[in-house]
Amino acid sequence: MVKANANYGRLQGNYLFSTIAKKVAAYTEAHPDAGIIRLGIGDVTQPLSPAVISALHSAVDDMADAKTFHGYAPDLGYEFLRSAIAEQDYRARGCEISDDEIFISDGAKSDSANIQEIFSPDAKVAVCDPVYPVYVDSNVMAGRSGEWIESEQRYSDFIYMPCTEANHFMPEFPKENPDLIYLCFPNNPTGMTITKERLQEWVDYANRIHAVILYDAAYEAYISEPDVPHSIYECEGARTCAIEIRSFSKNAGFTGVRLGFTVVPKDLKADGVALHGLWARRHGTKYNGAPYIIQKAGAAVYTPEGQKEIRQLVGYYMENARMIYEGLKDAGYTVYGGVNAPYIWLKTPDGMSSWDFFDHLLDSKHIVGTPGSGFGPHGEGFFRLTAFGTHENTREAIKRITEA
Ligand code: PLP
Repeated sequence: MVKANANYGRLQGNYLFSTIAKKVAAYTEAHPDAGIIRLGIGDVTQPLSPAVISALHSAVDDMADAKTFHGYAPDLGYEFLRSAIAEQDYRARGCEISDDEIFISDGAKSDSANIQEIFSPDAKVAVCDPVYPVYVDSNVMAGRSGEWIESEQRYSDFIYMPCTEANHFMPEFPKENPDLIYLCFPNNPTGMTITKERLQEWVDYANRIHAVILYDAAYEAYISEPDVPHSIYECEGARTCAIEIRSFSKNAGFTGVRLGFTVVPKDLKADGVALHGLWARRHGTKYNGAPYIIQKAGAAVYTPEGQKEIRQLVGYYMENARMIYEGLKDAGYTVYGGVNAPYIWLKTPDGMSSWDFFDHLLDSKHIVGTPGSGFGPHGEGFFRLTAFGTHENTREAIKRITEA
């Protein structure tokens, strides 16, 4: 008899955001006029920029004419996009990355979930706690988790690196050596980021213990402070220990359009095997390429107008981040993040649990946020608000939260 993949049976509960969606749907049904404001899920609200829209229209027209029609895209991405990324995101910043080290995909969620496939099934995985749940769940599905320990809210075989107020939400090197280390900066959910100096220490550590860092830089565009690294390849030695994942979702509003990329340097090896070739093979076998139309839209982001427009888009959301951060701080909340990231990580008042605070905000203020405990046990007692709403909703939400 055929058996289902037993690893899936170890996944815990529903995906965090499905649970939230169900609670909100039930509340909305019972209170249809509540005027709920959603600052929970990290989805954007502003339209695609004019340069992107114009590139989309023009690419659609290309598809209408046999002379300019495009069928299957190259598995690894069109050269016009790979070269723009390698040049502007990396070489212009002094990072030595070649065009063919960029792999175009449909987004950072897929890449950050799939990348573990090119490593041994017994690779020891280290994740931050709290963490973007995809890194954990994808490794549970792949059989690396061991058993779920209910009393500790953790899996037996993962290494958890607590990110707490005490360590300024910066993970410390674990006692046990990991093989795969997931780092995400600027961080989801804490909104905190890392200094170049500290990231260099992580790179040195990974090279020393022959581990690979999976560096998720989906929020790179939100960095506003000067000593914050935009890429792990700004660190010396990162080409031999790091893979970087990025997205067009949060800088250019592509959440519904879908585009991202992963950088795998050719110098990166796992026990002597070049990972570049493995990821190319994986991509070629399981993925038929991001659509031409979407890659054209992605390339428009790298034009001078595109760059100007996405800076305005990021600026719009960061104004919300400022409103949330300052509004809550002035009202006496303890708040983190919100400076180099579109997330504000606040301490729940009066020692409330994260889910109790969620229920309180939904019931009495009609605001949806994300309970910190949904991102891991060390997220308990915290709550995430996102800056991706409209100015009007964000202003109204802060007014409602801070009024007595
Ligand atoms: N990585 C992190 C840390 C995220 O927070 C998100 C989305 O919220 C993603 C990746 C997913 O990005 P994409 O829309 O490109 O799949």
